[in-house]
Amino acid sequence: MTTPAASRPDYDLPKSSAAFARASKVIPGGVNSPARAFGAVGGEPPFMAKAEGAYLYDVDGHRYVDYIGSWGPMIVGHVHPKVKAAVSEALALGSSFGAPTEREAEIAEAVAAAVPSIEMCRFVSSGTEATMSAIRLARGYTGRDKIVKMAGCYHGHADCLLIQAGSAATTLGVPDSPGVTPGAAADTLLAPFNDADAVETLLKANPGQVAAVLLEPIAGNMGLVPPAPGYLQALRDLTREHGALLIFDEVMTGFRVAYGGAQERFGVTPDITALGKVIGGGLPAAAYGASREIMTKVSPVGPIYQAGTLSGNPLAMAAGLATLELLREPGAYDRLEALAVRLADGLESAAREAGVPHVVQRVGSMVTLFFHDGPVRNYEDAKGSDTSLFARFFWEMLARGVYLPCSQFEAAFVSLAHTEADVDHTVAAAREALAAATA
Ligand SMILES: *Cc1c(COP(=O)(O)O)cnc(C)c1O
Repeated sequence: MTTPAASRPDYDLPKSSAAFARASKVIPGGVNSPARAFGAVGGEPPFMAKAEGAYLYDVDGHRYVDYIGSWGPMIVGHVHPKVKAAVSEALALGSSFGAPTEREAEIAEAVAAAVPSIEMCRFVSSGTEATMSAIRLARGYTGRDKIVKMAGCYHGHADCLLIQAGSAATTLGVPDSPGVTPGAAADTLLAPFNDADAVETLLKANPGQVAAVLLEPIAGNMGLVPPAPGYLQALRDLTREHGALLIFDEVMTGFRVAYGGAQERFGVTPDITALGKVIGGGLPAAAYGASREIMTKVSPVGPIYQAGTLSGNPLAMAAGLATLELLREPGAYDRLEALAVRLADGLESAAREAGVPHVVQRVGSMVTLFFHDGPVRNYEDAKGSDTSLFARFFWEMLARGVYLPCSQFEAAFVSLAHTEADVDHTVAAAREALAAATA
């Protein structure tokens, strides 16, 4: 794939390119998380020097309107003065103790007050840990082994969750990665997103064996795919009927689509919830939580083991608490919603004028412009998108100072730091970018 950046004399990344070459010698692919390497759009990524508010600044001197927000956490914008002050204050008192602190109870109280399914929660350091621990808890609590996951939902990189859909793999998980053993995959059953009948079939075919049905209540990792009306409630009813737990992975949607997450927005309460991203306010923190009855099965009160050297880290708890406080200010979610509607409407009209196949999907401040004819309801639909048009569009946007997620299968995030002017600049850039990408 050609790198459109290289074809634009006004958008050049010499320092980033040198940094990438250096990093690639000592870090696989030059990055510490694969998406950052731009594999889905070709070319080399700009290296970042700093961020502030709604903007990223690369080492080559370009400024970008940022729609990845560190892939979700930065909902109040980068280096918000209140978050910065909270973290600085905490740092001055010690960055890690390996002993309990008062702030951990404070944020756990805030989470329990916010999230309908949570009475108690346990903090960990990444979304991967949160979902992995939630699965262990569900298995330990029910005494059952199997889990149902939806194709195209991402839950971090725990072995048993690194399984998506092979076309023939609707009932038997096939590992997505070398290093995941068939044994780890064998207890993972797959269903398409937005298909409650498929889940019912799996539950009936594995009577008394399914510990949990796990999903992103709003899929964000195949591009933004909302749950169809009634889908979440149908899963709630089915899991109850079959004695399985319902787990919402709200690592992306928690405190994002509403203060209480997708479960508040859609009025369906799971048994266990995984949180991450926003809850750490840009520092490494995540959590899993449930009723007191379920959570008291976790060590040291109960027998289900889970631990972490940096869990509940003081700096991360301070950043998370400050972020949650900002999100509780009146009008925060209305503002996010209004900005995201403005962005979605603008992208829709730009794509319509350009005459490209498209659909814009949005829930709250999460938005995806799919180059796809008609709605995207599941992973199969998403994979039918024009990814090469997306790659050209992505680079044309980058060259115009707009940093979108570098894959068709990701959601863009709007933050409280974005302004109407940022959104309007983005939409104007999209008009030009689509013209250039289809020329
Ligand atoms: C990002 C994400 C994860 C993984 O979180 P990490 O902090 O990257 O380990 C899990 N589930 C969902 C829905 C996510 O979006």
